[in-house]
Amino acid sequence: MSEKFDVIVIGSGPAGYVAAIRAAQLGLKTACVEKWRDETGKGVNGGTCLNVGCIPSKALLDSSYKYHEAKDELAIHGISTKGVDINVPSMIARKAQIVKQLTGGIAGLFKSNGVTSLFGTGKLLAGKKVEVTDFDGKVVVYEAENVILASGSFPINIPPAAVDNDVIVNSTGALEFSTIPKRLGVIGAGVIGLELGSVWNRLGSKVVVLEALDSFLAIMDQQIAKETQKILTKQGMDIRTSSRVTGSKVTGKEVTVTFLDKDGKEQHETFDKLIVCVGRRPYTENLLAGDSGVNLDERGFIFVNEFCATNAPGVWAIGDVVRGPMLAHKGSEEGVMVAERIAGQKTQMNYDIIPNVIYTHPEVASVGKTEEQIKASGEPYNIGTFPFSASGRAMAANETQGLVKIIAHAVTDRILGAHIVGPSAADLIQQVAIAMEFGSSAEDLGMMVFGHPTLSETIHEAALAVHGHAIHIANKKKR
Ligand code: FAD
Ligand code: AMP
Repeated sequence: MSEKFDVIVIGSGPAGYVAAIRAAQLGLKTACVEKWRDETGKGVNGGTCLNVGCIPSKALLDSSYKYHEAKDELAIHGISTKGVDINVPSMIARKAQIVKQLTGGIAGLFKSNGVTSLFGTGKLLAGKKVEVTDFDGKVVVYEAENVILASGSFPINIPPAAVDNDVIVNSTGALEFSTIPKRLGVIGAGVIGLELGSVWNRLGSKVVVLEALDSFLAIMDQQIAKETQKILTKQGMDIRTSSRVTGSKVTGKEVTVTFLDKDGKEQHETFDKLIVCVGRRPYTENLLAGDSGVNLDERGFIFVNEFCATNAPGVWAIGDVVRGPMLAHKGSEEGVMVAERIAGQKTQMNYDIIPNVIYTHPEVASVGKTEEQIKASGEPYNIGTFPFSASGRAMAANETQGLVKIIAHAVTDRILGAHIVGPSAADLIQQVAIAMEFGSSAEDLGMMVFGHPTLSETIHEAALAVHGHAIHIANKKKR
């Protein structure tokens, strides 16, 4: 008889490991299967997020920003720095150490919560059976009352720029450069492209970002996107929209990229390294037996309903492998929802209030609807904005670029969306997200007492500005 679990999770990224821990907390006998191996061949938990995604990219963003700050930003405070240098292998080693610590931390959390950790490749068979093939090829079949598929996603490859893991890399390779490329090309001005481009731009690479679409950050609020483009361009990033890459040729240690400009004319640029960041695809390879009963949608995601149930009873799917934004926190919350529903609770998730952040400097963050989406829906709305240049705290920190924008319904005053480019935008946006979750109006937020001097006061002032009541800026409209 094979061992039976209440819950088997396939994949231990932020969706899967959170689901497994929550299920175990609820008293369910839980196992989590993971096939990721570190450079020594040992199994590791944490998925894309911890190993090659959110965490390592933020480690390099923080290191590179500190270098840039020490070199170029401290003089204004009266601090002189000379001979500031960066040791790239040390920076990469620090990142690796953080990854090791955090992935090891998940092993510890599994142990303390009583989750059985299984290393190997999991495959869903018919009848909620899970076949696990370990790293030595040994196969064991487990049974489960419920199976949660959390197999994540992988980077999209495009034929015009095939990754060779030397000159042409994807986001994973871009976390491992041992020297600073003199000329760096980035294909795709999405979140990942802008973050990785920023890392190497700060360290001295001449960065060119090639984006096929005509507009920059097309799905974001366009006022914020335009401001962001201006700021990043000022930092030296050469962002070229309407530039579709059609080919590349590697010669020795450099690559010449061919792209079509806005007039359809062929252009060429030569780089020492090229990062391909054109999006990610759901990962379902070898995950489902032919008779597993689980359906994919037309884009290759596992098909699920609003509670992440697949069409096979007792089989659920969460995270990047299902519809919705490919964000770690979206998958984690789906994991909690599914574990609690398996345990008989009626947990739901609010997909309308998921914050989204780009960790450039300054950060770009948004929650809820953009002005363009609201306009298209025909809903009447008011806008309040407040620039960081009018914030005393931002001035003290010499972080005055950017603005906060809050959009509220013109009749109900309920906050529909908030968009920020500016210092600590990632943390500031959460304040509006909390307010939105509790159904706050712009007036509610405006009536709250905010500490002084804080960056949070920009949220307060933007909320007040929705009705023309901002104090520290001339209001466009007075009421
Ligand atoms: P994953 O993290 O991809 O984990 C899936 C796991 O399943 C993997 O470990 C995989 O090995 C395993 N697996 C797959 N198939 C099997 C199988 N058959 N058997 C066993 N195991 C299997 N998101 C944010 O929210 N914030 C950020 O700042 C951010 N930065 C990012 C930066 C980069 C460079 C990248 C690449 C991504 C970033 N993301 C960020 C996205 C984030 O990493 C993903 O949204 C998140 O990791 C998805 O979680 P997941 O659990 O669904 O999948
Ligand atoms: P994201 O999906 O947010 O990671 O962003 C990926 C970006 O890559 C999108 O903005 C795409 O328009 C862009 N992209 C995809 N293919 C190409 C290409 N061949 N040349 C330039 N940009 C591309």
